[in-house]
Amino acid sequence: MIRLGDLEITRVEELSTPGSPALFKAWDDEVVAAAAPWYVPDYFDPATGSFSTSIHSWLVKGPGFCALVDLGCGNGKDRAPPMQAFGGLATDWPARLEAAGARIEDITHVLFTHLHVDHVGWATVPDGRGGWTPTFPDALHVMTRIERDHRDPERGAAGMSPARNAPFLDSVKPVLDQGRVDLVEGDETGYLPGIDFIPAPGHAKGQMAIRFSGGGKTAICTADVMHQPIQVFRPDWASGFCEDKPLAEITRRRILALAADEGALVLPMHFGGTHAGHVRRAGDGFAWEPLPEPA
Ligand SMILES: [Zn+2]
Repeated sequence: MIRLGDLEITRVEELSTPGSPALFKAWDDEVVAAAAPWYVPDYFDPATGSFSTSIHSWLVKGPGFCALVDLGCGNGKDRAPPMQAFGGLATDWPARLEAAGARIEDITHVLFTHLHVDHVGWATVPDGRGGWTPTFPDALHVMTRIERDHRDPERGAAGMSPARNAPFLDSVKPVLDQGRVDLVEGDETGYLPGIDFIPAPGHAKGQMAIRFSGGGKTAICTADVMHQPIQVFRPDWASGFCEDKPLAEITRRRILALAADEGALVLPMHFGGTHAGHVRRAGDGFAWEPLPEPA
């Protein structure tokens, strides 16, 4: 558990799996070899040619609130290609949430960094009639207005394939229909005590990062600004999932600079290894210093 003054932050894992370098079009074995002293073996296994990756939520307890940042893939979701790896899961994530210190009914806020398939799944569970119902009916679900507009098939996502629309329809729409939603701009300061939103567009159009402050320290959940720590070293490497790759790189450099200059603990959504760490300025770029113990 990470403590920042009144805030307690705990990682709740959904999946830990090997990932393929095919995620990065710019992948270069020579760059990876140069990064080996810190990248291997915690983040990359040269024997299998795969990196470690994780899908998790961050549980954040503070004065008067109990929030979850992002909600993984969920169980039993029907996902067609190219999303098939995120469907048909059967994990015990609710039990892991409880082990991390919160029951379903304790959650007061769900904070979505963005609305991609691997960030919204646990927002709903089967309703027993072939549909989906909110998992956290009493929680306020917070998402950016831009992201809602962009992902809603009746709005910006009108031209997207059924496979790409499915996560919105089965995991986000039931929450919107129920009404416990706050559409934000994604730049709010003090949204909850010790919690600020920071615009982070590029990977997703309306993505936001989330800063946690307390006890004179800060941490930044960097959403999907980065998928792998090699991107700290090479911010010009965009993932195949980034919607606007040039903007994603601009945002990546800005958030890396912010984290380095604040000395913030960085809490990504998909790093393997110890899952969290610090970014330091190194020459013209940045270096990654993982936490010594898993977060
Ligand atoms: Zn993601």
